Amino acid sequence: MAQAKCFECDNCEREITAWSDNDAYYLNDEGKKVYAYHPNMDELEKCTDYESYCLCLDCGRKFKTDSAKPKTKCTKCKSTNFVDPYDLDEKPCPYCNEGVFREDQSFFRIS
Ligand SMILES: [Zn+2]
Ligand SMILES: [Zn+2]
Repeated sequence: MAQAKCFECDNCEREITAWSDNDAYYLNDEGKKVYAYHPNMDELEKCTDYESYCLCLDCGRKFKTDSAKPKTKCTKCKSTNFVDPYDLDEKPCPYCNEGVFREDQSFFRIS
């Protein structure tokens, strides 16, 4: 089950929604990525790695990172100042450079 959190900048009101789960995958015999999703537990058990999202705190770019080959830099501005969007609470807003993200407590969603 995936849970979402919503963060909103207290200055520019930009919203970021973050999901708790990542895109799990395994490599098939041909070395290709096969993604597995709930509730397909048989496939999920084969997964060895996952992809997840990062949010750059310098330019606001959202990009994918892979646990097999984690990104060390933002794909756009090369900054190393990025976070998992799920940990965005109280982080500075990259869109207006003035506000801070706060978790929207009224927001609650489960897929
Ligand atoms: Zn902002
Ligand atoms: Zn960046």
